[in-house]
Amino acid sequence: MKRIILFGAPGSGKGTQAEKIEREFSFRKISTGDLIRVEVQKKSVIGKKIEEFSSKGLLVPNEIIIEMVNNRVQSSDVKGGYVLDGFPRTLDQVKGLSIVPADEEVAVFLRVDEDTIVKRILSRVSCENCGNVFNTISQLPVRVNICDQCGAALTRRNDDTEEIIKKRIVVYREETLPVINFYRGKGNLHELDASLDINTVWSEIRGLLK
Ligand SMILES: [Zn+2]
Repeated sequence: MKRIILFGAPGSGKGTQAEKIEREFSFRKISTGDLIRVEVQKKSVIGKKIEEFSSKGLLVPNEIIIEMVNNRVQSSDVKGGYVLDGFPRTLDQVKGLSIVPADEEVAVFLRVDEDTIVKRILSRVSCENCGNVFNTISQLPVRVNICDQCGAALTRRNDDTEEIIKKRIVVYREETLPVINFYRGKGNLHELDASLDINTVWSEIRGLLK
């Protein structure tokens, strides 16, 4: 079973590439955000614990996240491999990951400069009604400011301002750079220039995984 870890700041195209890997290689994409949502919706034992932490404004503890990832990896539809999106974020989580099964591990860092990230995120618009996301540079809707899928108006997220995006990048760097350095030291980190267009980046990732 192959484990692929994708690193990249917000706006690096990490989510899009994770989806492409899932489609092409039939690996399962595992995002901790999704796992949390599912457990909370199911009102499972883990879900209830998570709600307790978030109601107190606390982060979900590492052990719970590792337990969820481990359970997910061992479910029957995850056979060939899995892609971790947004995880591990800290060195503690890297340590926790050692109990999660994998025969082979490939870490990919999608490197993008700050200007590109800001430009990409500022050009994102989404549908108020169905949540579809478009991009005024790279993924235009057929009609200006109108959702292709449902015809509702497209708007920009309020928290997508240059200042907030820059803050998010700083937080991301402080948190994740030690983890990226860890994988670099381990010798299995592939660094790609993710300021290139989505398809160019995708063909490089595909080459790494074949
Ligand atoms: Zn829509």
